[in-house]
Amino acid sequence: MKAILYEVVAEDTVKCSVCSHYCLIKNGKRGLCGVRENVDGELIALNYGLSIATSIDPIEKKPIFEYLPGTTTYSFSTVGCNMDCPWCQNQSISQVPKPNNPVEGYNISPELHVSQAVNYNCPSISYTYTEPTIFLEYAYDTMKIAKRNGLKNIWVTNGYMSSETLDIILPYLDAANVDYKGTKDTYKKYLKCDNLVVLNNLKRLKESNIHLEVTTLFIPGINDKISDIKAIIKDLTTYLGTDFVWHVSRFFPHYKLKNKAITKLSTLNKAKQLGEKAGIKRIYLGNT
Ligand code: SF4
Repeated sequence: MKAILYEVVAEDTVKCSVCSHYCLIKNGKRGLCGVRENVDGELIALNYGLSIATSIDPIEKKPIFEYLPGTTTYSFSTVGCNMDCPWCQNQSISQVPKPNNPVEGYNISPELHVSQAVNYNCPSISYTYTEPTIFLEYAYDTMKIAKRNGLKNIWVTNGYMSSETLDIILPYLDAANVDYKGTKDTYKKYLKCDNLVVLNNLKRLKESNIHLEVTTLFIPGINDKISDIKAIIKDLTTYLGTDFVWHVSRFFPHYKLKNKAITKLSTLNKAKQLGEKAGIKRIYLGNT
């Protein structure tokens, strides 16, 4: 399917504006997410309609704790991601199409996702497991039909979408869980991303009255020093104030970080204590 946010910037190059990488993509090549390809001057979303994971989960598993509690949420994703976190828990689907591998998935239309959600009595659909930003067109079409059927839409996201993508989804979005993964240096060193993009998007989501929950995974040796925890809290409270839900979550060795230790419970307790001291009242410990 032809992508919805791109422009031709040179004879053989298009610029994708779906996320804040704003990839410049030459003919025959893909963007960083591995699922958007320049085919003869048109940007094609290779993952449209191809669901790699579909499930019905408790909403608390997203994690969303303070929106539709006790309900199930119909969840799906495609392959691909615009980040490559060394600690990714879903790398077998998030990284598999990169740089030029087949874009796999089962043909499931937006209409079928919504009718399955209705049939299984799920009051919401979650766009999750990988990064919904990179399957924007598929998510957007599903969100519109979901709304017409009285369902809520929830994004579980790294928050690195462009402002153009937020413009498109905000009228249909009800709730989000956004990862805030570390300090400015964590984003720069491990993700090659700018943390200010995520913070500005968090602010915009909050100002748009989207139900917002934030998750931070604390990883030994990466973002778990007291100075890191304080910097993360300062970033979040500067952009969001203190009225938001914060999940402080425990890391288990995975993907490129199999040699790391499990996060100490004392680290999570310290993060909770420091967060509460800064005024954040709704803090939950995760993966404990
Ligand atoms: S979604 Fe992001 S990573 Fe993928 S092609 Fe577009 S700008 Fe690049």
